[in-house]
Amino acid sequence: MSTIPSENLHESLLRRDRRALWHPFANLALWEREDAPVIESGEGVWLTDIDGRRFLDGTASLWVNLLGHRHPALDRALLSQSGRIAHSTFLGATHEGAIALAERLRDLAPAGLSRVFYSDNGSTAVEIAMKLAFLYQRVRRIRQGKKIPATFFSLERGYHGDTLGTVGAGGIERFHQLFGPLVRPSVTAPAPDCARCPAGLTRNSCHLECADMAGRLLEDHREDLVGVLVEPLLQAAGGMIVWPSGYLARLAQSCRNLDIPLIADEVATGFGRTGTLFACEQEGVSPDFMAVGKALTGGYLPLAATLVRESVYEAVREDPGTFYHGHSYTANPLACAVALATLDTLESENLLQAIPEKRETILECWRSLETAPFVENIRAIGLIAALDLRREGGLPLLDPGTLSEIREKARAKGLLIRPLGATLYLIPPLSVSVEEVGLMARILSDTLWESAGEGLFARTP
Ligand SMILES: *Cc1c(COP(=O)(O)O)cnc(C)c1O
Repeated sequence: MSTIPSENLHESLLRRDRRALWHPFANLALWEREDAPVIESGEGVWLTDIDGRRFLDGTASLWVNLLGHRHPALDRALLSQSGRIAHSTFLGATHEGAIALAERLRDLAPAGLSRVFYSDNGSTAVEIAMKLAFLYQRVRRIRQGKKIPATFFSLERGYHGDTLGTVGAGGIERFHQLFGPLVRPSVTAPAPDCARCPAGLTRNSCHLECADMAGRLLEDHREDLVGVLVEPLLQAAGGMIVWPSGYLARLAQSCRNLDIPLIADEVATGFGRTGTLFACEQEGVSPDFMAVGKALTGGYLPLAATLVRESVYEAVREDPGTFYHGHSYTANPLACAVALATLDTLESENLLQAIPEKRETILECWRSLETAPFVENIRAIGLIAALDLRREGGLPLLDPGTLSEIREKARAKGLLIRPLGATLYLIPPLSVSVEEVGLMARILSDTLWESAGEGLFARTP
C-alpha cells in the first residue's frame, strides 16, 4: 500500500521553469539546484509565495519598488487607465499622460533639463543619452571645424545597463570583460571608493585626490570625449559604493570647465533612494543629460526617460533633424499613468522626510556587526545600507556557493536579499515601516552571526 508522493505545485512549477526558462544574471548550475520561491502575491514590503510563505522584499524587487506592492493609488491609476486604452503608438501621436508626466519630471529634475525622451528600461534610457550626446557634440564640433569625438568617460566598477553601448561604458569586470571585443571601451578613472582609495589616502585627511585624478584624465582626453557618464553619489551594481561628498560637484565642475557634457545615470538613485528626489541635488549639480527608470513607476511597469537640455534638442533639430531612435512601447499610457500616481504618492506620504529615521534603524541593528571579524565597511546613504563580507584572514568573501548559502539562510528567516559579490545590502521600498526595516536589518545580522557560528567564513573556497 505504498503511495507515490505527488509532486507539489511549487516543485512542479520549478521543474517547468528549469526546462523552459533562462533567468537574468543567474549562475545556471546554481540556479538549477536552487529551491527558489514561486511568488504569488505581494502587499506592502511583503511577498507571498504559492506555499503561503511570506518574505520581506529586502531589495525592493531589485531597486524598482518604491511605495510597496499593491499600493491602492497605483492600482487605481492602472485600472483607470486600462479602462480607456492600454497602448497606442507614440510615433505620430501623443497622449495626455505622457505630456503631464514629462512636465512633472521637468519640474522636479535639476534645473535646465527641459526635454523628455521616453523608453522602457534603464539601459535604453542611458543608451539614448549616449546617442544624443554624440549627436549634440557632432553638431557643435562640425560648427567649430574640429573632429567629432567618439569615446565616453566612465568609472571603474560602474554599471549603466546591458545593451552593448552601455556595456562599453560598464566597469564591472565580472559582467563586462567578456563582451570587451564587441564594444567600444571608455576612458576610465578609478571609482571614488574610500574603502579602497585609489590614491591610498583616508577620507579625514584627503583633498579628494580621486577627483583630481578624474579631472586630469578629462583634460588629457577632452578632444576625444562625447561625454562623462556616471552614477551620481552611489555606484549601485558595482557594490553599493558611496562616493565621498564633494566628488560629484568637483567632477561636474571639471566637465563645465572643459565643456564636456555630463550624463547622470540616476536609474538606481532616482526618486528618493539616496535621500533626495535625485542624487544630483545633494551637490547642487545640474547635469546635461539624466537617465531615470527603475522606480519611476513605483516598480509596477517598465518605463524609463532621458531628460536633456534644450540646447541638445536644438542641435539635433538643426542636424540631422530627426532622432532615429524609438521603441514599440515608447510612452506606454499604463506606465505613464502609474508613474504620475507614484510621484503624487511619494509627495503626499512624505516618504523622503521619513528616510533618516529608517536608515538609523538599520544602522542601529547592525551595531554588533561593526566589530565582527567577518564584516567591513558598513555604509549607508538615503535608504540604502550595505556591508562587505570577508573571510577569516581578511580576504573578501566572493565564492558564489557560500554567498548563496547565506542568501538561503536569510530567506528561511523570511528575508529576500541578493548579494553583489561580497557586498550585502538592504534597499527596502521607501514605504517600509520602522518596525519592518528593523526586522529586515535584524534578520540579516542574525543570519551573519549564525553563518559565522557554523564556520562559513572560515572555509577556504
Ligand atoms: C539597473 C540600472 C541600469 C539598467 O536598467 P535596466 O532597467 O535594468 O535596463 C542602468 N543604470 C543603473 C545605474 C542601474 O542601476
